[in-house]
Amino acid sequence: MKITAIRATPVRIPRPAKFTSNLGTHAASENAVVEIETDEGLVGIGESSSIWDRKGSGCADDINGLLAGLLIGKDPLQIRILTDLMDAHLDRAQPAKAGIEMALWDLLGKSVDAPVYQLLGGLVRDKVELSRSLSMGTVDEVLAQAEVLVADGYRTLKMKVGRNPASDAANLEALRARFPDLKLRVDANMGWRNPKEAVRHIHDLETHNIELVEQPLHPSDMEGLRFVREHVEVPIMADESVWTPEDAMACARAGAADVFNIYVAEAGGIGPAARIFGIADAARLTCIIGSMPEFGTGTSAQAHLAFAMPNIGYGSDVNGIVYHEDDVVDHSLQIEDGYLLPPTGPGLGVRLDPERLARYRMD
Ligand code: MG
Repeated sequence: MKITAIRATPVRIPRPAKFTSNLGTHAASENAVVEIETDEGLVGIGESSSIWDRKGSGCADDINGLLAGLLIGKDPLQIRILTDLMDAHLDRAQPAKAGIEMALWDLLGKSVDAPVYQLLGGLVRDKVELSRSLSMGTVDEVLAQAEVLVADGYRTLKMKVGRNPASDAANLEALRARFPDLKLRVDANMGWRNPKEAVRHIHDLETHNIELVEQPLHPSDMEGLRFVREHVEVPIMADESVWTPEDAMACARAGAADVFNIYVAEAGGIGPAARIFGIADAARLTCIIGSMPEFGTGTSAQAHLAFAMPNIGYGSDVNGIVYHEDDVVDHSLQIEDGYLLPPTGPGLGVRLDPERLARYRMD
């Protein structure tokens, strides 16, 4: 089989509600849909998702302008060789490369009529516990969001912190008082300036029985993260510090985290993300899967990983689909009582809808 065309289309889909964290406020997601055509008629579908600088349009430029030319004529089933080829020709730009890489897995799955999780080693669980994130807001706004999600069956909620210590503490105290048994975690999104400040805020927050504290400091500050980890009881989860397998190795060596938050988009695809799970496994660390949030294709890629990787220890964010009003694919993902069920169908289990792609495309 040979690749005959690769096409990335930037897509903008509104969110039902604006979402605010220390990273800013988002009213829509701008990702890119990737189509890989072959000489045998099979088409692979992928998605580049990023809330960071490049977003869907930048990822589409990287794919259409740089990566497509590199891969046309190549065998799409040689996923590892093509992944290394992309890395050799374009530094970083992981979300763009991930969009192509997951489309190659989709093609491989379709070519052997098997779901991607089967090709990654098979199901290790029959459902994946999900976590939902609460947009920053007043006590009443945060409680109102939580009421709806708990009624929907979610058992793990994540509160965004790191901007205003007084409102962080008040919101968490109110959530804990209202939901004594809920698993609660906080995500500072790099919001605290230095290790001692982070330790002080975490000591205030951990009196309310939190399961994790996510990314307290700047991603590069491995020594600072280690200091924080050694001075608080609650496990520290690295998110922005761990994009690639190399980042994961550095974080594990530094003893900077107890948990990795792994993204298919930030790792550069399903394969690199699976390699981070392997590093964590060898380092006796546990993981979750994080979200940008993705549309149906990106969420399906996360889902196949989530059903095949053994060392997931907490609720994961494999539910970008619920943060959007619509989609450009039909997917097989089902959420039941706060759990994700295994995807079905060959490959990633998604089918592109040309009408909805035309409605939401940005170019
Ligand atoms: Mg995070």
